[in-house]
Amino acid sequence: MTGFSSFDLLPPILAAIEEAGYTTPTPIQEQAIPHLREGRDLLGIAQTGTGKTAAFALPILDRLARRRIRPGSRQARALILTPTRELAAQIDASFATYGQRLNLTRAVVYGGVGQYGQVKSMGRGVDILTATPGRLLDLMNQGFVKLDRLEIFVLDEADRMLDMGFIHDIRMVISHLPVERQTLLFSATMPKEIAHLAQGLLSDPEQVETTPPATTVERVEQKVYFVEKGDKRAVLAHLLRQESLTRALVFTRTKHGADKVVEDLQKRSIEADAIHGNKSQGARERALSRFRSGESRVLVATDIAARGIDVSGISHVINFDLPNEPDNYVHRIGRTARAGREGVAISLCDATEVAFLRVIERIIRIPIPVETQHPYHSELIASSPAGSPQPASPSRSGGRPSRPARPSRPPRDAAAPEKTQRPPRTRSEQPKAESAPRSVKPRPGGGASRPGATQGNAARPARAPMARRRVD
Ligand code: AMP
Repeated sequence: MTGFSSFDLLPPILAAIEEAGYTTPTPIQEQAIPHLREGRDLLGIAQTGTGKTAAFALPILDRLARRRIRPGSRQARALILTPTRELAAQIDASFATYGQRLNLTRAVVYGGVGQYGQVKSMGRGVDILTATPGRLLDLMNQGFVKLDRLEIFVLDEADRMLDMGFIHDIRMVISHLPVERQTLLFSATMPKEIAHLAQGLLSDPEQVETTPPATTVERVEQKVYFVEKGDKRAVLAHLLRQESLTRALVFTRTKHGADKVVEDLQKRSIEADAIHGNKSQGARERALSRFRSGESRVLVATDIAARGIDVSGISHVINFDLPNEPDNYVHRIGRTARAGREGVAISLCDATEVAFLRVIERIIRIPIPVETQHPYHSELIASSPAGSPQPASPSRSGGRPSRPARPSRPPRDAAAPEKTQRPPRTRSEQPKAESAPRSVKPRPGGGASRPGATQGNAARPARAPMARRRVD
């Protein structure tokens, strides 16, 4: 337990960590916990899978348990805002695990289910509330949740919140928080809008950064299959019939695509479930639990639905569609090779996706090996100009027109990759000055006093939500 004991956490927390089997803090925990123990605000550039939840949960539990006060009626002492129901449930479960010996109270609030139980759980107030923004705001507007005595606020997966159209709701929630509080913001990437939000939200923040790409990417055996679009379903079935695929997570870019893939697999007598934002909470939970228990070997998911899903033992990640955001590729393949295990990631790449593949390879800084030993390999796609690792590939006759440098069909959120893409790097690879977001200005004078830290933000008029899809 030497790894965690240096953080000076309460013994019941250390015991719970030990019971969870953690011996060494992950890099984000190593960097973040000491600052959080000092009560500092934090800007964490980290994604799910890095141990981020414990990085904030442990010091929060410690702080709440050291200064025990009864939360007021309908009040929360700590609020964790996260984009999806799955993440909310997982974060709450982590608090339950790490805080099992502390007797702190918790509630979790998300959409897609009736509000009665959630309202009831908030009646006497709680120490720790984990919530998605839409439902939280609904309950606040009805007077069932009050946050004016909040002590700690965590905004989790801020960039994902932005993508999902939650930024307006978040600003509304923030406008109800007291100025005097500890604030943590986590984001996998730092698009301009998030840097701007952080500037108003955080007071003299410490910045920590850890991205798993280098380590995750190295541990995963990656392959790309160049195939015709019309062959993808047959290729998938071909792959899923192999016995080595003990638990496969298949990614599609759209919800409709996920349903179509499941339908096709079922026609081929391959059991599979889909999980995405249009599925009811019950259907998602059933699909996840069938997948976890091994009852179903194949789960087909969209990026947003899969974000944060913590299922161990995923042997294969299959990108039925290549993601149009390179960061999503890293998130996806990080679902396998968890907890030090090895995993395989297979990407099916058709002619329209070659340019996406090249961007991904630039970001992960390695070429993905091409698998040609299968019945569906298309040499034409593999050697098309965008498909060839060498830029000057000879043009071919009788085939498709040569590929443009970027895909001709604009991705759904075409601007996002440009705004959010950032080559993977670790804190140690870069000087601190460079890693600090330019727009987050440290204020002189340390973290204790926080004049106007949030007032500026609260006073800023909430902007109209962007025309983005909202899933809560
Ligand atoms: P997270 O990034 O919070 O979703 O965590 C990813 C996974 O890592 C979860 O399954 C955690 O239980 C696990 N985990 C977190 N911290 C540690 C640690 N220090 N040692 C081993 N596993 C950990």
